[in-house]
Amino acid sequence: MIHPSETKQQIKDFALAHAKIDKIGVAGIERFNGAPEGYHPTDFLPGCKSAIVCAIRLPDGAVQAVYRMLEDRRLHLHGIYPAYGYTGAANYTLLFAAMRIARFVERLTGEACAPIPAGPTHGAKTMSLRHSAVAAGIAEFGWHGLAMTPEFGTRNRFCVILTTAELESDPLYDGPPLCDPVKCGVCAAMCPTNAIGKYDPKRARSFDVGGKPCEYSMFDGNRCKMATSGMFAEFNDSGRDLYDVFANPHPIHTEADGLQAFYYTHMNNNFFMHATSWKCGYCMMYCPAGNWKERFFDTGLSKIDTRKYIKD
Ligand code: SF4
Ligand code: SF4
Repeated sequence: MIHPSETKQQIKDFALAHAKIDKIGVAGIERFNGAPEGYHPTDFLPGCKSAIVCAIRLPDGAVQAVYRMLEDRRLHLHGIYPAYGYTGAANYTLLFAAMRIARFVERLTGEACAPIPAGPTHGAKTMSLRHSAVAAGIAEFGWHGLAMTPEFGTRNRFCVILTTAELESDPLYDGPPLCDPVKCGVCAAMCPTNAIGKYDPKRARSFDVGGKPCEYSMFDGNRCKMATSGMFAEFNDSGRDLYDVFANPHPIHTEADGLQAFYYTHMNNNFFMHATSWKCGYCMMYCPAGNWKERFFDTGLSKIDTRKYIKD
């Protein structure tokens, strides 16, 4: 039985007012038809019929702490973003929001709800939050593969509440496209290891969500991992010049050229991380979607003028 639309509205009103989230949408189970084995909502909650997807906006002041580190070498600010933009307060805000919403929906409908943690906070394997956000109509994919909302771009975080209640799906996002990778090359240009790559239809992963065509780059996870686990400035002080490492790679490494560029464009600009991290984040931090220019460049919070990577 599909619950009446007033039930969905009651859930949304509660979530926005009492769980303090910024956006909410609902995806019916059919929107997950393409989910890989083990990651379908029914793998997490047998009998699941709907996913309630919530987003919170990251504070601009937490996001700009990353620019201070990357652009100004203010290394001691490194902890602000993880604390307030990622696994600390941001994920815990979603964790408690999902708990409140799950209990509310169970009381309201008498159906079961399984809150899904917002990323790496409690070591739980989670389903894809970004695909869920697109499926619920609150976001769209960018070329970098992240889910972007029109208001906040990539600088939000998501959580999901799965439920056996059958709720009406919200429309998929159908506003102005948030990403035109033919014109915009910011994420590809800013990615230090070429894990994303310039737009090329042959490099696109194409699929659909609820009938809406989607695509993003065939992102190279190993290259991204290099940035998140090994790209830190202190490496260069370890006695071996980093250029030497990339110019004379291990024989099994075959793609040294792109990595040499990473030395020149990023090391020389002090664009390096300064500790191993689960994030590198250039793609997320400099993506222009969600009024990045107005919020971060025009205000002086970032000094990197990314407009040179965007064709008129
Ligand atoms: S940086 Fe540009 S090309 Fe990359 S996802 Fe964002 S809008 Fe799309
Ligand atoms: S996190 Fe860094 S290395 Fe990974 S895709 Fe984004 S910009 Fe590239």
